[in-house]
Amino acid sequence: MRHRIAVVGGGPAGLAFARVLHRHDHPVTVLERDPAPDARPPGGTLDLHEGLGQLALDKAGLLAEFQALSRPEGQAMRILDPDGTVLRDWRPRPDDRANPEIDRRQLRDLLLGPLDVQWGRGVTRVVPGAGDGVRVRFADGRQETFDLVVGADGARSRVRPALSSVTPHYTGVTSVETSLDDVDTRHPDLARLIGDGSVAVYGVNRSLVAQRNSGGHVKVYTKFRAPLDWHTNLDPADVEAVRSSLLALFDGWAAPVLALLRHGTAFVHRPLHVLPVSHTWTHVSGVTLLGDAAHLMPPLGVGANLALLDGAELAESIAAAPGRGDLDEAVRTFEERMWARAGKWAKITTAGLERLVSPDPTEALALFDGVQPS
Ligand SMILES: Cc1cc2nc3c(=O)[nH]c(=O)nc-3n(C[C@H](O)[C@H](O)[C@H](O)COP(=O)(O)OP(=O)(O)OC[C@H]3O[C@@H](n4cnc5c(N)ncnc54)[C@H](O)[C@@H]3O)c2cc1C
Repeated sequence: MRHRIAVVGGGPAGLAFARVLHRHDHPVTVLERDPAPDARPPGGTLDLHEGLGQLALDKAGLLAEFQALSRPEGQAMRILDPDGTVLRDWRPRPDDRANPEIDRRQLRDLLLGPLDVQWGRGVTRVVPGAGDGVRVRFADGRQETFDLVVGADGARSRVRPALSSVTPHYTGVTSVETSLDDVDTRHPDLARLIGDGSVAVYGVNRSLVAQRNSGGHVKVYTKFRAPLDWHTNLDPADVEAVRSSLLALFDGWAAPVLALLRHGTAFVHRPLHVLPVSHTWTHVSGVTLLGDAAHLMPPLGVGANLALLDGAELAESIAAAPGRGDLDEAVRTFEERMWARAGKWAKITTAGLERLVSPDPTEALALFDGVQPS
């Protein structure tokens, strides 16, 4: 029997879910709010871990293609003191495939492959127990019914309220991002500073990380502790005003580090919100959540990995569940496994954020030394 399954959201979680179901010849409806794949800038590069994101791609039959596209050299990491002194300069061995980097756009296209996504289908509400299934309401007023609705619609999930009244809360840390293009040609000194991977600088209650994407594109992430309304008197669209306020915040840092902000083209303000560390819900037949919708945590290199693995594992469980009762049991068992794994990583990333944006910058170095082979 074929279950009527919809996944809300075409990010890493939703696409991995759909792609693995597709591999098992199970139909799935992918509902994505964006009107087209390139409607928004895709965001920075992602490192996919062997036991998480790469495992998910293996389940989707996409590991070899990932290996061909990804950048193992992008794992390189240099750490500087705010005065510019190099504290660590770590490079991966040539055969190191533990956490290679891939651009988000490349990952999305890899997952999209043969999938038939319904673009421009923003979901407003999901109503379980609606007689013949779970009702999905759309922004255009239409509605459809499915046996299972999977909420993979990210931090501000519209599916989550069907299962949980919990909403994300502010961590006290804000990120402002900027980016540079053609860095090798236009800013060769900065290209050398960043190297093949990332350069990170940790100061008192603030940090700056510049990360190479493919094609000479660089993303720069500042993070700092601030009240949610820190920018009340700042127009976010006024690039020069945001730049000046960031330069003031990082005043005294080495000139090459500040040059990353001076040459940044536009700035994106991103206060970091999270769900509680062990967010769970009472199981509701016909609805579940994956990825950030289920376990939004600080962005420290695992969110997309967990999202991919959530999607792949749920799809595999469903593909092995023939009847409607089996479907419910498959989802229930999957939820327990996802909660256990996400809870563990939420604790790690929450503690990690405290140490990376800390009153004592040596905490960040100790964290790096604890995870990176020397
Ligand atoms: C700055 C930053 C850097 C990061 N770096 C990393 C990293 O290096 N490694 C890593 O593993 N993770 C990283 N993360 C975390 C990672 O981006 C997320 O955890 C991951 O994208 C979650 O995937 P998702 O599919 O659950 O949600 P999302 O990626 O948010 O995708 C949700 C999708 O649902 C769609 N959608 C939303 N609402 C609706 C609706 N109502 N109806 C229909 N569709 C809807 C959205 O348009 C989107 O396509 C980072 C996060 C940030 C912010």
